[in-house]
Amino acid sequence: MPSAKAWERVMQLEPGWRVQLRKPHPCGNDWWEVVRIGADLRLRCLKCGRRVILPRRRVAQRLKHALPPGEAGGTSG
Ligand SMILES: [Zn+2]
Repeated sequence: MPSAKAWERVMQLEPGWRVQLRKPHPCGNDWWEVVRIGADLRLRCLKCGRRVILPRRRVAQRLKHALPPGEAGGTSG
């Protein structure tokens, strides 16, 4: 199970947030935009644009960084 801290960070996510996950996409990118929130999180790869659906638990286990929409992450491009 993910730690309480990891859960906390996942529960604060909203559409528009960007997250970095421990397991990179096959395209080599590890930053994702949160598209939709529910029991599962819908994420869009910021490099190739592909969408995936991950259970919150899975995201909590893999989450490295989370950035609110207002904060420039320096990861564009
Ligand atoms: Zn990708």
